[in-house]
Amino acid sequence: MIIFQNKIMDRSEVSIDIEDRGYQFGDGVYEVIRIYDGKLFEMEGHMKRLERSAGEIELSLPFPASEIIYSIKELIKHNNIKDGHVYMQITRGASSRNHPFPDNATPVLTAYTKEYEENPSATTEGIKALLADDIRWLRCDIKSLNLLGNVLGKQKAKDNGYDETIFHRGDTVTEGSSTNVFIVNNGQLVTHPATNLILNGITRKVVIDLAQNMSIPVREEEFTIDELLSADEVFITSTTIEVAPVTQINNTVLNDGKTGEVTRKLQEAFKNRISKVINK
Ligand code: PMP
Repeated sequence: MIIFQNKIMDRSEVSIDIEDRGYQFGDGVYEVIRIYDGKLFEMEGHMKRLERSAGEIELSLPFPASEIIYSIKELIKHNNIKDGHVYMQITRGASSRNHPFPDNATPVLTAYTKEYEENPSATTEGIKALLADDIRWLRCDIKSLNLLGNVLGKQKAKDNGYDETIFHRGDTVTEGSSTNVFIVNNGQLVTHPATNLILNGITRKVVIDLAQNMSIPVREEEFTIDELLSADEVFITSTTIEVAPVTQINNTVLNDGKTGEVTRKLQEAFKNRISKVINK
C-alpha cells in the first residue's frame, strides 16, 4: 500500500497525470525518513525541512504536517515495516504544460515505504569517494526533485568503481551526491556551513549535536580539496548510510584505509541515539 493525497491506497489504484509538474519540471520537494524498529527517526526535523523546502519554492503543503505524519505511521503499521524508510514527495500538481506556476493546480502528495533487507549502514565500512565538479544549481539547500546533478555525480562514481562522489566548487568541498561531508583534524570536526550550496542534512545536524555533547569541537566552515585529502579522518553522513568512514578519495588512501577513532566514536554515539528512539 502507498499514500496518495494522504489516503492509504493500493499502489495499482493510483494514477499520476502525465502533466504533473513533478514529472515534467521536477517541480516539487521530497523527504526520506528512516524507520528503525517501526519508528520514525528524527521525524520533526524532516517535516520542518519539508515545510521549508516547499516554502522556498512557494508551495504550501496540501495537508498539515501532523496529518501527513499520522498517515505515514498508519502506512508503516499497515505495511509492517521494521527497518527501512519512507519516501514522500509533494509536487505542484497537474496543469497544461507551461513554465509559470498554474493558477489552480492541486499539489499532489505521494509516499511509500521501503523495507531494507540488509541495513545499508552495515555495508559502509570504508567508502571510496571520487571528486567531481559541483555542477548543480545554487539552491542545493532545497530538497527538490531536480536531482540530475546528483544523479550524474553518483553515476560517475559508479562507472569508475567508487561508492560516492564528493563535490567541489572550485577549491571548496561542498558535499557528497547524497551525503554531507565531514573532515577530522586534531580531534576537531569541520563541515561546510549550511548555506545555499549544500543540503542541511538531518544526520549532519544529529552528528554535530552528538559531537558537541562529547566535547568534540565542530567548525561549520569551508574547507579545501587539499584539506580533505590531508585530513586525519573523513566521514560522510545521511539518513540511509548514517555515519560512514571515507577511506579513499580518488587515488589517495586515508588513515591507512581504516575507520578513524573519532569517526568510530561518533558511529557508536549515533547507534546509541537510535537505541533511545527504539526503546522510547
Ligand atoms: N546532501 C544531499 C545532496 C542529499 O541528497 C542528502 C540525502 N538526502 C544529504 C546531504 C544527507 O541528508 P540527510 O542526512 O537529511 O539524509
